[in-house]
Amino acid sequence: MLVLGIESSCDETGVALVDAGGPGVPKLLGHALHSQVRMHEAYGGVVPELASRDHIRRVLPLTHEVLRQAGRSLPEIETVAYTRGPGLAGALLVGAGVACALGASLGKPVLGVHHLEGHLLSPFLGADPPQFPFVALLVSGGHTQLMRVEGVGDYELLGETIDDAAGEAFDKSAKLMGLGYPGGPALSKLAQQGDAKAFALPRPLLHSGDLDFSFAGLKTAVLTQARKLGDQLEPRKADLAASTEAAIVEVLLKKSLAALKQTGLKRLVVAGGVGANQLLREQLNAACAKRGVRVHYPELDLCTDNGAMIAMAAAMRLAAGVQEANRDYAFDVKPRWPLDELSAAP
Ligand code: ATP
Ligand code: MG
Ligand code: FE
Repeated sequence: MLVLGIESSCDETGVALVDAGGPGVPKLLGHALHSQVRMHEAYGGVVPELASRDHIRRVLPLTHEVLRQAGRSLPEIETVAYTRGPGLAGALLVGAGVACALGASLGKPVLGVHHLEGHLLSPFLGADPPQFPFVALLVSGGHTQLMRVEGVGDYELLGETIDDAAGEAFDKSAKLMGLGYPGGPALSKLAQQGDAKAFALPRPLLHSGDLDFSFAGLKTAVLTQARKLGDQLEPRKADLAASTEAAIVEVLLKKSLAALKQTGLKRLVVAGGVGANQLLREQLNAACAKRGVRVHYPELDLCTDNGAMIAMAAAMRLAAGVQEANRDYAFDVKPRWPLDELSAAP
């Protein structure tokens, strides 16, 4: 069964085609992505109205590109999936509107997917798919959460950030170091040439005894340090970047290990944009190997937003009998939508 997935929750238009017909995990037949990063760069962040307008321009050309890649045609699509939330309302409406119009015109059912479930299930698109149950560390631009995952739709929140997300901590620190937007990858690259012990930055909530995170104080500490350095910031930038990255990664590592200990689970899934971070991967791999824990990541290019994870989540929801695609094309979107509100198969 062919599932088309459309992602438009923020500043990436993603479209993908997944084949969920055969045995085993669904197979990715094609995916195409357009990032609006260059367009929003001048503003230092995403401008919602510009994002919506750009999604409108990109979504159909990307759909045709995916079909071409896969050697398939529109009528062969059996279900059209889209990101229903959370995200920017106007941006979500574009994907939802296009998906429902496409579904209605083809006479095929549609299915709205939770964006974070897409991230969470994205490692199933990789060469080394996980098995349920597992602990998930969801680290993206807008979220930092630890989840206990029993199966598709069965998510228990173990802890989350009380202020900024990990990706936001990377981006905001990078911004005040003049590293552009979004700064996570740039900060991480610069950090490779720096000394992570150069600056003593806080590890907020590291010893809080729960599985919550806080990154707002870290950003303030980086700002204070940058101001203190003044003219000396430039030659010490790599050191500050390395110290910042080390602080974020240490908190993510320790809390993930605490979640594994608390749940007794031996499997960890890391998903979301920050999951592309190499230091995080190295440290998690080393610590988990010692504890007999298997770690699974999405492919590097599928860590940040994409249509493949949306098609995949839809295919897995259908296969697990958690959700049925519907022909009620009166769509709605959910800009705010906690992941643990989803439910598993009855
Ligand atoms: P959400 O999924 O919570 O709605 P989002 O979709 O904007 O947010 P993602 O696309 O999953 O988030 O991830 C983007 C974030 O990942 C950005 O904050 C970016 O800086 C960060 N990021 C990407 N690559 C890296 C990296 N190598 N190191 C650190 N951070 C990274
Ligand atoms: Mg993005
Ligand atoms: Fe995302």
